[in-house]
Amino acid sequence: MTDISRENVSCPDENHDTPTPALSESETASASTSEFSRNKQRKRKYLTSWENKWPWLVYDQDADVARCQMCVKAEELKLFKAEKRHDDAFISRGFSQWTKGPDRFAAHERATCHHEAVSNVAVLEDGHSVTAKLNAQIAEGQAAAREALTIIFTSLHYLACQNIAVRGHRHDDGNFAELLKLRSEDKPSLRQWLAKRNNWTSDIIQNEILEMLAHDVQRQIVSDIEKSPYIGLIADSTTDSDGLEQLSISIRYLHAETLVIHEAFLGMYNSSSSTADALTNAIKDVLLRLGIPFSKLCGHSFDGASNMSGRLYGVQAQIKAMQPKSMFVHCVNHSLDLALQETASDIAVVRNSLAIVRDCANIFRESAKRKQKLKQIADDISVSTETESGQSTFLLSLCPTRWCVRSRAITRMLKCWKAILLAMEELVSESGRGDMKSKIDGLRKQMSKANTYCGVLLRQGLFGPCEDLATALQSEKTTATGALHAAGVLLNHLERIRHEDEFDHLYNQSELDAAVLLMRPVLPRRLS
Ligand SMILES: [Zn+2]
Repeated sequence: MTDISRENVSCPDENHDTPTPALSESETASASTSEFSRNKQRKRKYLTSWENKWPWLVYDQDADVARCQMCVKAEELKLFKAEKRHDDAFISRGFSQWTKGPDRFAAHERATCHHEAVSNVAVLEDGHSVTAKLNAQIAEGQAAAREALTIIFTSLHYLACQNIAVRGHRHDDGNFAELLKLRSEDKPSLRQWLAKRNNWTSDIIQNEILEMLAHDVQRQIVSDIEKSPYIGLIADSTTDSDGLEQLSISIRYLHAETLVIHEAFLGMYNSSSSTADALTNAIKDVLLRLGIPFSKLCGHSFDGASNMSGRLYGVQAQIKAMQPKSMFVHCVNHSLDLALQETASDIAVVRNSLAIVRDCANIFRESAKRKQKLKQIADDISVSTETESGQSTFLLSLCPTRWCVRSRAITRMLKCWKAILLAMEELVSESGRGDMKSKIDGLRKQMSKANTYCGVLLRQGLFGPCEDLATALQSEKTTATGALHAAGVLLNHLERIRHEDEFDHLYNQSELDAAVLLMRPVLPRRLS
């Protein structure tokens, strides 16, 4: 209190009710050197040193009053409870009774309204900083999540483009999980993300992302199809391993900018059954959903099954009823395939030799031991078993439906005919299952006959060029006129070789080969 009394200098005008302490000489001296200045009437003035003790004080020079900045701020922000009485002297009116200053300042600092103002302002300021911190944290989390999701998307995109299986036997193995682990080695934030329980890598989300990617590809294709003035439809159905009917739909269209014909696969669709009505409805539904109008259809092509190509109630007839301008084309490759199958089954020597080739390929392909034996013997007699791509599976099985891959299989078999015979002899002489031995022995006897070899060679001479045509017809670039022209070329070739000279040439060839391979007695191999 001595301090206050020292600073409280009398001011008769303002301070009538308080006793006026007299100034000692020493006080006068200190006041003259400090900021404590007096006017001519020795009136007390505001001291800036008060702010050291009461930091909330703020001096308004124009009005010559002091206020409490905390209370002023609380009043401005309406942080006071309305019913409470405020210390107006330190808020709106301002305090100017300097002689009572220190007492009143101390009293104000103890007042409830000041405490309320200080605590409310502090809460508000803290709140602001907490919200800002929370916002920054949320933004950081969002950026990390966005980055992780982008990596999840690009990883799935990569696997889908490369035709690589996504999942393994469990959720946490498989190519997708391993790829993410690998990528997280370069991205620590991804590693943290993957450690979370909810990290968007579940099977459901993988499927959803793949579906989104598929829809995006489909939308791009459809946007190109929309610009084409004409379209063609290709559809075929088959039964999958679950016994469900799957309908594949492709569209041929003209690219509006490059004027090049494209063939786009739109997808596999489930149809309720394999009847013509169900398949027609499925096609209509797909085209409607993708916004492809039937009015642009100028051709549709299916296989020869009665539900597809039936003249009265087949899918082709129903589509024709909806769009009479569209022309039905029986798939040219299917037509060629049917013609070849019919011809081959009519010629006994070709039919039997093909059956022998198929059985022989299966015998060696289904057992690693037999395959190894054949390879060893082929090496011994210097027959190359390397395929074009360097693989050692040199015996190909005959494709049951597609003819264009049969030529390669037969060429390889002709090449190692001798090795096959020697391998069969050894297999028969070894101990093993009786039924398999008798099967191999039966085949060996068939293959040892010159007419079997001749039949295979004949088949190759006749059907080899047909398979070249089949390969050409499967090309996306094939046009109707191009297909007709290619078929004409093949017919010419077949007519040219339908000649005694050509037959003699083939027969002599087989006779020469047979003499080398079969007519010579084959000595049993000596086993060390
Ligand atoms: Zn205050």
